Amino acid sequence: MTQQIPAERDNFGRLLVDRDLRVPSVDGVFATGDAARAACDDIGNYALMSCQHATRMGAFAGNNAAAELLGVPTKPYHQKGYVTCLDLGEAGALFTVGWERQVKMVGDVGKKTKQEINTVWIYPPRAERAAALASADPERVTDVSGFF
Ligand SMILES: Cc1cc2nc3c(=O)[nH]c(=O)nc-3n(C[C@H](O)[C@H](O)[C@H](O)COP(=O)(O)OP(=O)(O)OC[C@H]3O[C@@H](n4cnc5c(N)ncnc54)[C@H](O)[C@@H]3O)c2cc1C
Repeated sequence: MTQQIPAERDNFGRLLVDRDLRVPSVDGVFATGDAARAACDDIGNYALMSCQHATRMGAFAGNNAAAELLGVPTKPYHQKGYVTCLDLGEAGALFTVGWERQVKMVGDVGKKTKQEINTVWIYPPRAERAAALASADPERVTDVSGFF
């Protein structure tokens, strides 16, 4: 899909975007989630192809596309926190924090967190207007840095 946009892409085919998730060389185009190579902080980390990043980037990209149409300021995407949680089947799960992947939880405790991630953190909003709008608000979409 990104091949249809006449703009620079990385080796995953993701469109290079500015801090507001705008594709700089094409007017009116924003890219997000798996389709965008976006800086998520000021120290050289980039969003990965993950739910964790796609959920928050989507809120910023949607907000900014609407903001540009309305002529109001766009908001720079930022996401300092980064965690991984690897399900290990009967052995539980491994939960790490930070880009250095510092181990914080293992076994059953990690597994409980994995289940919460899948059923709460990245779960789609209820099919209700207020819940859907809240989940699309960039100021409210979780950046896990607040938890650790
Ligand atoms: C098997 C698998 C397991 C994964 N497990 C994990 C995990 O455990 N943890 C994690 O963080 N991430 C995981 N990921 C990655 C995660 O799913 C993606 O990073 C995330 O879904 C990206 O979100 P997105 O909104 O950018 O794209 P998507 O979720 O892919 O959404 C894109 C949507 O656009 C639609 N679309 C495509 N082309 C068009 C078109 N031309 N017109 C209209 N609609 C179109 C597609 O049908 C799709 O619904 C996994 C991915 C896969 C494939």
